[in-house]
Amino acid sequence: MDKFSLSVVVPCYNEEEGLHELHRRVSSVCHDCVGDNYELVLVNDGSSDASWTIMCDLANQDQQVVAVNLSRNHGHQLALSAGLQVCRGERVFVLDADLQDPPELLAKMMALMDEGCDVVYGQRIKREGETAFKKLTAFAFYRLLNRMVDINIPSDTGDFRLMSRRAVDILNSMPEHHRFIRGMVSWIGLRQQALPYERAARFAGETKYPLSKMIRFAVDAITGFSVHPLRVASVLGIWFGVAALMMLVYVVAQYFLGNTVQGWTSLAVIILALGSVQLFVAGVMGEYLGRLYMESKGRPLFIIQEIVCASEPELKHLPLHQKG
Ligand code: UDP
Ligand code: MG
Repeated sequence: MDKFSLSVVVPCYNEEEGLHELHRRVSSVCHDCVGDNYELVLVNDGSSDASWTIMCDLANQDQQVVAVNLSRNHGHQLALSAGLQVCRGERVFVLDADLQDPPELLAKMMALMDEGCDVVYGQRIKREGETAFKKLTAFAFYRLLNRMVDINIPSDTGDFRLMSRRAVDILNSMPEHHRFIRGMVSWIGLRQQALPYERAARFAGETKYPLSKMIRFAVDAITGFSVHPLRVASVLGIWFGVAALMMLVYVVAQYFLGNTVQGWTSLAVIILALGSVQLFVAGVMGEYLGRLYMESKGRPLFIIQEIVCASEPELKHLPLHQKG
């Protein structure tokens, strides 16, 4: 199965402007590192622009390129999972299509892996061309996540990394649908090493992660690796119980002192506060329950519509449904 010493896996969603440049830079880097002993797996995640046509052209012109077309937009993490499933290299280099993460770091990552690591991940020390809001939310998110989860998920990392075949095989055997791949890789353990780097601005186009997707991604990450939010109900229950007890003491004391406690306003505030806490807790439970429900269906993670590659026709006989 291991046909190449290196696979480069790139999930792409509406990246038509950058694909040629991506191909040029990745090809040159790979040639320098391993000669022709690599494949470039481009996964089209249901793009609505010309990305797929460009990928097919690249695959027809360059036999190192494998173009994988998903049946619709499955989302970044599932598109990446599809690429990881299809690729055959002994080492797998994961990259975004927008060239924010420099492919030129491959040589350094390879060298670190030669020293016996299973995973070498890029850790951003600087991010260019991104909004202050994105930087701030990303910063806060990784700190919050690390307080909640029991494993150590390194801060400020993306999916930009080099993985050994062993790590990729383990990752492929994890069947969960709501995937937070950088966390899943940390969960595997083995020897992992950080490589600090500066993240560039997008080469072309704009981010495919609007706020709504960022929030969903963050919730996937937290629920995927922690059940702490489920305990929020118990903690809040205790605090509200203590508050109620203190209030009871106060009310009884006032009664014996001959005062009537007035409090329509405070009553309304208390009811609203309790109601919102209860709804919040129900929402958190619903979040976990919904995930349990989706997982219980056991559907495939993604559907591959077709694979175009010049050199390896046997790849085309991959079953249509790929299950992680
Ligand atoms: N992407 C994808 N499917 C999606 C959204 C994004 O395959 O539904 C790809 C996108 O083409 C890019 C990578 O995921 O290669 C990361 O997305 P982006 O660069 O927009 O995220 P950001 O760097 O802004 O967090
Ligand atoms: Mg990006």
